[in-house]
Amino acid sequence: METYDYDLFVLGAGSGGVRASRIASNLGGRVAVAEERYFGGTCVNVGCVPKKLYSYASHYKDDFEDSRGFGWSFSNVHFDWATLKKNKDNEINRLSAIYKSILNNSGVTIFETRARLLGPHHVKIGDKVCSARYILLAVGGWPYIPAFEGAEYLMTSNEVFAMESAPKSIAILGGGYIAVEFASFFCRLGVDTTLIYRGSKLLRGFDEDVRDIITRELARSTNLFLESDISCLSNKNNYLEVDLTSGLKLQVEQVVAATGRRPLTQDLGLENTGVQLNKYGAVKVDDRFCTAEPTIFAVGDVIDRVALTPVALMEGQWVAQSLFDKEMGSVSYENIPTAVFCHPNLATCGYSEEQARAAGLSFDVYESSFRQLKHTLSGRQEQSYIKLLVNQDDDRVIGAHFVAPDAGELMQGVAVAMNSGATKSVFDATLGIHPTLAEEFVTLREKRGA
Ligand code: NDP
Repeated sequence: METYDYDLFVLGAGSGGVRASRIASNLGGRVAVAEERYFGGTCVNVGCVPKKLYSYASHYKDDFEDSRGFGWSFSNVHFDWATLKKNKDNEINRLSAIYKSILNNSGVTIFETRARLLGPHHVKIGDKVCSARYILLAVGGWPYIPAFEGAEYLMTSNEVFAMESAPKSIAILGGGYIAVEFASFFCRLGVDTTLIYRGSKLLRGFDEDVRDIITRELARSTNLFLESDISCLSNKNNYLEVDLTSGLKLQVEQVVAATGRRPLTQDLGLENTGVQLNKYGAVKVDDRFCTAEPTIFAVGDVIDRVALTPVALMEGQWVAQSLFDKEMGSVSYENIPTAVFCHPNLATCGYSEEQARAAGLSFDVYESSFRQLKHTLSGRQEQSYIKLLVNQDDDRVIGAHFVAPDAGELMQGVAVAMNSGATKSVFDATLGIHPTLAEEFVTLREKRGA
């Protein structure tokens, strides 16, 4: 029998790669991982975690304002970007080191350098060549930058987290997760924020009613240009001039492209293997995460199924267990809860109304639009919204959508209920916790149109 240096060689120590390495090693596999950039990947270093910290920072602005209606008064409130950046860096360094020590403690061999595939079983790391029974590609994705004149002046989410000081003004191009979240925090951290999106409503793919609300909220807090794109960007030394397709010109200090991410497959040596890419540049895998090369597997953003950290974790774990433990059942991508950390947050699980209709389902809609109790005194004109879709055949809740502060926190429990097949009757029979936002989930009684 052929012997290999390792049972599993993992390229990339992000969410999927670290999870797969740790589980495979704990299951007795001899595992190595190569990481050239940072441990913890996008999520820890330039994604979910720093974004959430900046989002927390921005919430204080709302809290200071809201507190006046509750009797607080103060002067000289000041925000210091450099303090936030320094504290964020410390925390990210701490977390990244934890990811590395998780690998060390699990007995995984770490190569802090780039790895390239030489064949179905071979990887080159610097001058060294290693062999492995299996290889896992978990190299993630990278911001996509559209092509137009002056695109070289664009920054991406990566560079935002390296900014040492806040710009006076910023324009963000895009209308997806990153654009909406970044616009939400920039505008509250004292930056004059412009959001430029080519569509008529933000957050394509989300429920239309939710999109309407978030678009309205962002129009209130930013300079929002819909059905607009950037045709050209020019550097005028102390500012950037943005030419919009509408003919309008804007002058801002920085412009961020939040225009999606692409699988990071360049220069991996894929040509030395049978691994194939789909037309979007993502690594093609079957339902076992196996590429067209039977010894090479891939998970996470590089396969571009659902680019979310918990999904990459699930996929990484699935591969490790299926290779080193037991035959696994099929992976389910149903009822993946997700949140967008804009203001207010939006969270969702299951079908949007449009997806349910497209799937030919017969369903009832329960919804409520309300202003949360806190804002009766704060005076803030922020709207909250809840919608449940209920399958007429079996009364199951098949879609839940929530726009409210901390909606992500509240949706997690609802996702558990939905995954266990909870019906609307179960929601109705559950007592609320009063007074909370979350009790709205169990107090919806009127069907839309009834
Ligand atoms: P998204 O795919 O969410 O959004 C990309 C946006 O850019 C869309 O609005 C798209 O418009 C627009 N766009 C794409 N190409 C162009 C172009 N050439 N010119 C102008 N606009 C363009 O990607 P993000 O970059 O926001 O985020 C990447 C992924 O990271 C997300 O999809 C998500 O999976 C993940 N993520 C998750 C977060 C969370 O869980 N909270 C937070 C941040 C990211 P259109 O809609 O018309 O296609």
